[in-house]
Amino acid sequence: METACSLGFVSFGVAPASVPPFYDELVRWLTEGKHGDMKWFERNLRLRRDPSGLLKDCRAVVCLAYPYSREKPCTPDGFSASRYSEPLLDDYHVRLRKLAGEVAGVIRRLHPDSRSRVCVDSAPVMERSLAAAAGVGFIGKNTSLIVPGVGSCVYLVEILTTAPLASTPPLPESAGSCGECNRCVDVCPAGALEAPYRLDARKCLSYLTIEHRAPVNAETGRIMGSCILGCDRCQEVCPFNANMNSVNICLPSSIDFLNMDDAAFNARFGRTALARAGMRKIKENIEAVKASATP
Ligand code: SF4
Ligand code: SF4
Repeated sequence: METACSLGFVSFGVAPASVPPFYDELVRWLTEGKHGDMKWFERNLRLRRDPSGLLKDCRAVVCLAYPYSREKPCTPDGFSASRYSEPLLDDYHVRLRKLAGEVAGVIRRLHPDSRSRVCVDSAPVMERSLAAAAGVGFIGKNTSLIVPGVGSCVYLVEILTTAPLASTPPLPESAGSCGECNRCVDVCPAGALEAPYRLDARKCLSYLTIEHRAPVNAETGRIMGSCILGCDRCQEVCPFNANMNSVNICLPSSIDFLNMDDAAFNARFGRTALARAGMRKIKENIEAVKASATP
């Protein structure tokens, strides 16, 4: 796995291609409707349970974590976006697929008869569960995958493979756990972390400002603070995440965002992760925050 390190992955491991841990919790979460209108979670549930449905004869899942910047992307007039969006770089889905493809190439060279499939949010895979099973990190009370020594600012990638790779064990509790800490649950402005490890996505600002089809309402605008895309608060308070204070003024002002047309947005952000939320959604978010600040 020297290749994975040299490509910038900060943690990796191998999970067995069996039912991921926390599958039953996923089913319960869906039954309770806490995924909101992210209906894709409901589809292909069978595949989330059994990776061999995604790759015939799958024997192992290589799980990899790749870090993203801790600098908060900001506008010159004081608004910000979630760090994962990395608005100066190409969409991480594209970048990581390429990097993981190189790791898959190594697996193929070592096991010439094997087949592999790279997944970067592109298939129904229980990525955090598998990463925890593989010892890449542990799942925190904020439901993020936390890599000890690195934190939770990581993208997750999976390589399903028919190669007979030995599994790596989950981390022992002594290597990393939340312990008595409850900061993320306490800080959540939306009450979305209803209890440790239990997220109601319908209340979560990340969901409401990115995935949810309808515009955010006035109450949501009020608790968004200055963040116009996503929300990092339950990560910012986490003691496993150090150095999250610096900002990078790399976004246009809120006025410039609101005045942008499709062509201008696509020219500047069409290749970035911001394009997934889309210009209309970002404008609606800005308007909601501004409206909540108006007396
Ligand atoms: S992202 Fe924000 S709203 Fe969502 S759980 Fe974390 S703190 Fe709460
Ligand atoms: S803030 Fe505390 S409780 Fe929440 S994920 Fe981090 S260590 Fe765990």
